[in-house]
Amino acid sequence: MSERTAIVVGAGIAGLATAGGLARTGWKVTLLERADRLRPGRAAVQIWPNGVRALESLGLAEALESVATPMPQLGVRRPDGRILHPTDDTVPRPVLVHRADLHDVFMSGLGDQVEIRTGFAVRTVGPTSQRPSVGDGATTCSADLVVGADGTDSMLRRRLAPAATLVSAGYARWRAVIPWFRAPNLSGELAPGAESFGDGHRFTFTALGTPGTSRGGLYWAAAVPGAARPEPPETQLALLRRWFAGWHAPIGDLLAATHPEDLVQETVRELRPLPAFAHAAEHGGYALAGDAAHAMSAHAGQGAGLALEDAAVLQHVLRGAVQGSIGDALEEYARVRAARITRFAAHSRKLDAALQARGRFSVSGRFAPRLLDRVALAGAEWVAPGPRP
Ligand SMILES: Cc1cc2nc3c(=O)[nH]c(=O)nc-3n(C[C@H](O)[C@H](O)[C@H](O)COP(=O)(O)OP(=O)(O)OC[C@H]3O[C@@H](n4cnc5c(N)ncnc54)[C@H](O)[C@@H]3O)c2cc1C
Repeated sequence: MSERTAIVVGAGIAGLATAGGLARTGWKVTLLERADRLRPGRAAVQIWPNGVRALESLGLAEALESVATPMPQLGVRRPDGRILHPTDDTVPRPVLVHRADLHDVFMSGLGDQVEIRTGFAVRTVGPTSQRPSVGDGATTCSADLVVGADGTDSMLRRRLAPAATLVSAGYARWRAVIPWFRAPNLSGELAPGAESFGDGHRFTFTALGTPGTSRGGLYWAAAVPGAARPEPPETQLALLRRWFAGWHAPIGDLLAATHPEDLVQETVRELRPLPAFAHAAEHGGYALAGDAAHAMSAHAGQGAGLALEDAAVLQHVLRGAVQGSIGDALEEYARVRAARITRFAAHSRKLDAALQARGRFSVSGRFAPRLLDRVALAGAEWVAPGPRP
């Protein structure tokens, strides 16, 4: 049988992990990215134990370990700093990794079986009655398998599963890493970091690496009810300073030390209903992975972890398809991922509802921290696919 070929569309976390994973199991992979070069995302990303296990299954755990910082147990505080929920050592914690370091981990895993084509913005898909294909309007590429890892606004998903619609999650979210050389000094009981909730707002901070490490610094993430802010970063930062004025130290100092260029705003949207994660075509098929398949609220912090699970499961089911049926493998992928994502999305929605409640009905004080623990447990419970017999 001739070599199996795959096209992976999008070089974000899902696409890079999937392309490397397939290449390492004998597929000939072409990675298409619309940007003019492969670029790491900005700031840092939390990867929960399920994501770490997925990276392990993809053969990248050692590379991750060398650049990841385990996040300490932080408990939950009120805006005035009083403890709302104590630390609980039985609840799993994520590791924190700079996006540039994570990008290096993926690049080290691509090997020489992946052809990278940048500046290729996919505009056409299919038709599904023929061999899987995508095109940019000028060139069409076809393969046995096309993986749509093209993010929340996925062109492939819109074509393959038009009923899946993006809806706003109802809040805006920001992240930043303040490089060590201008990070404020943290001391006392808040030196490891803190997680604080109040009236629909959330602020988390912790150290990324140790002082002196080149891509390290103080990482923070904030969520605020409402829509994404269209203003320039300088204005967004001024608004964040106003919204979190009066919150416990060192939140004010962290926002004061943040420069507009450190700030990354995340547009939080989720897919309803979820699309089918695989679509048959003549002689092969299409799969969706990462945010293209299951963009969801960011409070659970699992976008990257779930994307890595997708890549690990795709690698697992398609390893057999080097000889066997791609249709059967994709059916298994769709079934396994739909079960996992549907379950997790339900937890994630409950957490959102609790964290976003405001005023007299704010339940942050009682339920939200417990839900946060429950979501952490639900995220971590994923088991990596075992070796094929
Ligand atoms: C600032 C920030 C912080 C985050 N922090 C966390 C965190 O702490 N923990 C966590 O789990 N998740 C986090 N997330 C979410 C997480 O990063 C995403 O869920 C994850 O990166 C999804 O990756 P993806 O590869 O599916 O999509 P993307 O990263 O969006 O990648 C899609 C890629 O496809 C390319 N593309 C798009 N359309 C086309 C096209 N038509 N043709 C060719 N290429 C195309 C894009 O250029 C892009 O490179 C964060 C997100 C942001 C923005």
